[in-house]
Amino acid sequence: MPNRLRPLVAGNWKMNGLRRGLVEIAGLCAAVADGAAGAAEIVICPPATLLMKAAEICAGSLVRLGGQDCHVAPRGAFTGDVSAEMLRDAGAAYVILGHSERRTAHGETDERVRLKAAAALTAGLSPIVCVGESHAERRAGRTLAVVLAQLAGSLPDGVAGEDLIIAYEPVWAIGTGLTPTPGDIAEVHGALRHGLEGLLPGHAAEVRILYGGSVKPGNAAELMKVADVDGALVGGASLVCADFLAIASVYREAAL
Ligand code: PEP
Repeated sequence: MPNRLRPLVAGNWKMNGLRRGLVEIAGLCAAVADGAAGAAEIVICPPATLLMKAAEICAGSLVRLGGQDCHVAPRGAFTGDVSAEMLRDAGAAYVILGHSERRTAHGETDERVRLKAAAALTAGLSPIVCVGESHAERRAGRTLAVVLAQLAGSLPDGVAGEDLIIAYEPVWAIGTGLTPTPGDIAEVHGALRHGLEGLLPGHAAEVRILYGGSVKPGNAAELMKVADVDGALVGGASLVCADFLAIASVYREAAL
């Protein structure tokens, strides 16, 4: 299937970034304004502490912002948590949900991710819902079963396809330098698209499905041209503007 949706390249800064790192976002805004990412949509998800300042820097630019998680409730007695409404208020348009680091370190279940995605949509944020198998699950031949179960369990009712982004992130590829083969990625993305057809009848083609896991300047062109890959979720390589731009720049090519 040709990639026909507007590509999205999102950077997940995780728990990295102090105010001095905002210079990377300023550099990104300037380069994107000069056409460095072609028609791709560029999103940076800094830590919540930097969101408001980042929003000031990105005001009027083509670079959009996202959070890295949100609570299921809009407000309340949840010490240390951040709501979707707060992220939106701070300038975010997206929020990453169900990242494997949160599923593993914070015990997030599909049901919790589903409630968070519903909260995000209510607040006007587009959720980037992450799914992905562990190495053991891949070795056991369970990859498709795992990601399709995560997909089915994590999507809120009535979500519009264009408001939803799925990120396929094999757990074993995150931060390791390992990546699946293009054929393996095509198989998973095709299965996710097919799964979406059952979950959102008539709207699966509107959902952008990103690949994430050790995307680097050196492999981005090969990975982004895989069928049904509508962009990338980038961790480590998003921290340095030049590297992130080198990834996004694959979309300067009209063929992609
Ligand atoms: C991530 O954590 O979402 C990710 C893709 O990380 P990395 O690019 O560093 O593998």
